[in-house]
Amino acid sequence: MIRYRAAWVLPIAGPPIRGGVVAVDGELIAAVGPHDGGAVEDLGGVAILPGVVNAHTHLELSWMRGRVPPNASMPAWAASLMALRRTVSPEPAEPIADAIREARRAGTSLVGDVTNTFATYEPLLDSELSAALFRELLGFSAADPDAVVRVAQDQIAALTPVAWLRPSLAPHAPYSVSPALMRAIGRGNGDRPLSIHLGESAQEVQFLRDGTGEWRALLERLGVWNAAWTPPACGPVDYLDGFGLVNERLIAVHGVQFTDGELARLAAAAATVVTCPRSNRWTGAGAPPIERFYASGARVAIGTDSLASVADLNLFAELAEVRRLAPGVPASRILASATLAGAQALGFASELGSIEPGKRADLLAVRLPAGCSDVEEYLLGGIEPGDIRWLDA
Ligand SMILES: [Zn+2]
Repeated sequence: MIRYRAAWVLPIAGPPIRGGVVAVDGELIAAVGPHDGGAVEDLGGVAILPGVVNAHTHLELSWMRGRVPPNASMPAWAASLMALRRTVSPEPAEPIADAIREARRAGTSLVGDVTNTFATYEPLLDSELSAALFRELLGFSAADPDAVVRVAQDQIAALTPVAWLRPSLAPHAPYSVSPALMRAIGRGNGDRPLSIHLGESAQEVQFLRDGTGEWRALLERLGVWNAAWTPPACGPVDYLDGFGLVNERLIAVHGVQFTDGELARLAAAAATVVTCPRSNRWTGAGAPPIERFYASGARVAIGTDSLASVADLNLFAELAEVRRLAPGVPASRILASATLAGAQALGFASELGSIEPGKRADLLAVRLPAGCSDVEEYLLGGIEPGDIRWLDA
């Protein structure tokens, strides 16, 4: 048993503790609280907090870092990503391993990793990251949706099962997945978390309203337009609701276009909104209404998205952007989004996301400047990997 004392301990499940102590027994947290006078290893001017949760990324796209330029139109950005992706198969492995190490150095404990290939599975097996892996499916004109789902399920069954890597199925987005495939994924995914890019671009809203616009044009250009598809004439949340997919397992990623009514529906369903504001700027989706996300009462988690649309996988850099866009949200709520809320959404809340007895001791010590009086606000200022270290159990 090791008892660490620090200038601040942030349990997340409760308020910060000045001069607090965390007791670690093997791989697990044994106790957390104020210093009771017993023997401790004093870490000095640091904050101890749980490793952070990057609730949405695509590690397999790491080789695209800096190679898909920012664009003012999200469909145009996606088209350039697809054109680049067609030049490489399979996905290069080394950038995936590099990205995992980078995320780990930046204090990441758990990721929600979207994959089309499971190229990330072996590198994740070799790492200390935990992950919910979302096997993403696309097919706006898929002839046999159940067969598409079966192939993905067979891939999942062939993986080496470990407790800290949890695969499930994910539809890509409303404009790239047919209604029949959407239903087949819902049936095939059972009670596991279901992640989808939702309400990301204005063009998606237009597409669902009347079937026109840049997404329609892109589907036609790719030869996958489905002439039998009828625009639902509703917003993205109502559209998903029609397939029975708006529930506590839903992870709605981006939500830049969500109305207050849609956010209220997500909150009532106990669903999660994942915001990735740096990516939204890069892809041309726009600035997410983060203060409205919090005001709605929906669970809010935070992600970086992939290195194709963000400069790094440092979630603390993402937190600085969240703070810039949402100056009115209490720092404690943003930190909870970056830890416990992400763990809850990804199905890891019994093990990760807060400092509580019985949870895994995947804990960070972040160096604080002398005289730091508001530790929570400081942690939203953009922490660099050089100021982060992992506590050894
Ligand atoms: Zn994404």
